[in-house]
Amino acid sequence: MTERAYAKINLTLDVVGKRADGYHDIKTVMQTVSLYDIINIERSENIVITTNKHFIPTDRRNLVYKACESFFGSVGIKGGAKIELIKRIPVSAGLAGGSSDAAATLRALNRIYKTRLSDDCLCEIGASFGADIPFCIGGGTALCEGIGDIITVLPSLPKMNVVISSGGEGMSTPAMYAEIDSRTSLRNIDTDGMVSAIAARDIAGIVSRLGNVFEDICTERRPFVGKIKSIMLANGAFGAQMSGSGPSVFGIFPDKETAVSCTHMLKKSGYFAFYCTTI
Ligand code: ATP
Repeated sequence: MTERAYAKINLTLDVVGKRADGYHDIKTVMQTVSLYDIINIERSENIVITTNKHFIPTDRRNLVYKACESFFGSVGIKGGAKIELIKRIPVSAGLAGGSSDAAATLRALNRIYKTRLSDDCLCEIGASFGADIPFCIGGGTALCEGIGDIITVLPSLPKMNVVISSGGEGMSTPAMYAEIDSRTSLRNIDTDGMVSAIAARDIAGIVSRLGNVFEDICTERRPFVGKIKSIMLANGAFGAQMSGSGPSVFGIFPDKETAVSCTHMLKKSGYFAFYCTTI
């Protein structure tokens, strides 16, 4: 069986509190995009993972492996799976590639083993080892709160043309949160306004409310984030912003032609870039 694991972007991302257990509460609108990893999976006695990216672990450190263990543990089956993971989503890029792979693995195992678990149940299994996994189970457009695992599904957006680009390694997520904790003032992020704009299918309203509380921090240390944004905005993007804890930047474009032409421009400037759409 083949399952697709789609990447996400964050239309807004805000940190709204720090909890006693050290985790941060966030408030974010996540959106699935058409870029995906491929998961080829079949029943087997043990859990065996192979991948096309040599630097990704294939043991317990891989979220796909964790998904298998958690699934079999939850349903009480002594099962296994042979999984080929074809990575197309950039790794450690703020696009939730690993979480999406885990979610796709849970969906696939549920079908292969005919366990008929509900999406809510798969979300619960996923949340036990990754806060972004519940969103990735259903995908689409959603408001995510708590540590990211409390999902409110939103109406789907009209299809938007998106370019995703990056120029190197990002900062570690714990370092970003430490920086957030040390700052006295942070950029104001209007997630409630974003939710209203989505309900109204108001593209201009959506674009004007793009906001990511991590962006300033990352841009200070990774200047390519600001450079990519400038290139996107100078080449027809309605709006551009960093996704997740970065360093990927996405731009929203009026049409495919403008988006593809900006992709070429970014590549010519030495950046990694590709065109996709919201789904
Ligand atoms: P997020 O947007 O949720 O913060 P990310 O896109 O920044 O995630 P990922 O690509 O999901 O980051 O993964 C980052 C780390 O997780 C890497 O160190 C990688 O080795 C490890 N990892 C574990 N499983 C996977 C997987 N299936 N795919 C990619 N990375 C994985």
